Amino acid sequence: MGLERTFVELGPRSYTVFVGEGLLGGIDELMGEGDWRRALVVTDDNVGPLYADKVTGSLRRAGLEVALRSIEPGENSKSVHEAMELLELLATSGMTRVDLLVALGGGVVGDLAGFVASVYKRGLPILQVPTTLMAQVDSSIGGKTAVNLECGKNLVGTFHQPVAVISDVDVMRTLPERQYTSGLAEVAKYRFIRPEMWLTPLAESAALLKELEKAQLANVVNRCAAIKAEIVSADEYDTGGRAVLNYGHTLGHALESATGYDGTHTHGEAVSIGMVYAGIVSEEIGYGPQGIADRHRETLASLGLPTTPRTSPGFDAVLKAMRHDKKNRDGITMVLIDRDNKPVVRAGLQTDTLKRCYDVLCGAG
Ligand code: NAD
Repeated sequence: MGLERTFVELGPRSYTVFVGEGLLGGIDELMGEGDWRRALVVTDDNVGPLYADKVTGSLRRAGLEVALRSIEPGENSKSVHEAMELLELLATSGMTRVDLLVALGGGVVGDLAGFVASVYKRGLPILQVPTTLMAQVDSSIGGKTAVNLECGKNLVGTFHQPVAVISDVDVMRTLPERQYTSGLAEVAKYRFIRPEMWLTPLAESAALLKELEKAQLANVVNRCAAIKAEIVSADEYDTGGRAVLNYGHTLGHALESATGYDGTHTHGEAVSIGMVYAGIVSEEIGYGPQGIADRHRETLASLGLPTTPRTSPGFDAVLKAMRHDKKNRDGITMVLIDRDNKPVVRAGLQTDTLKRCYDVLCGAG
């Protein structure tokens, strides 16, 4: 398989997303020109032992002095505390704006390292080397960085585009099945919001994806990267069209937050349930095509994803968390699907509607 390239067109902040096999050992050939002297590779305790040697070796070949910092895996590391620790490390080791941060890991490492890179000395370059399906198809592209607060997810963050994204699909071999399946939720999201970009229904390619068929996987990662690149290029700072990427995330983020990021639902699982919920709301208010929620359930279930909360934190807790959603205007705002199967942002959703739909989602309606 060849190397696929997607260009994220953002004027002076443009960059390339590389997708292929065996890329980790050749990062020096892909990372582009820079005056970087040193690199700090941020990873986590699962990913580091598997891939850090390849990446640091490759960076050393590019002439960089390389240091490594590993964090505890999991959403709880996407915290202000962890960001401060990393910032202290950058400062005490004398990193300057001609040095490079490298995020080697899933979305947690990417979001945290991206945030730190964006605020340290008002901006350090960052190279994203995503190692989960979730991060390859979504979080590593587009420059959104974040850490969580106790009361909500991603409430502190910045926009900071990477210098490049290097996605090696070989890393999927070691990804735990639950995490891989979780990434398929974001793949499904791209199918739901851009159905015209795909030739075959997702349910048809589900078996190949579940078997990690490499050519299929690289093709899917690249297609998702292209959709994300197009949306981000048109709305870098999320003031308009980019909101559609949030399909399923209003309830998804609320579920994660209301369960204290305790792992009841991975991010992708929460988004999967959130997309079914968005389908139910679209139908309930007479906005979306009839049967869309059932079609979502069928597709997501075929990928092995949950379509109803594993344990429900209760509507009041979910609503409280939804009120923190950054999209909100005039009450709760969600991305819904309209009658033409197009994603649209809909504000001012009524609490009783949302409650009724939540009951339907949980099987109590
Ligand atoms: P994650 O980063 O927690 O990784 C999942 C688990 O897989 C971790 O335990 C990690 O150690 C392990 N892992 C990663 N790669 C591995 C590999 N190749 N082999 C073995 N183990 C591996 O989770 P995620 O799903 O990648 O990311 C979720 C985060 O991404 C959430 O915080 C979410 O908010 C964020 N996100 C951000 C954006 C954005 O635009 N910035 C978009 C989507 C999601």
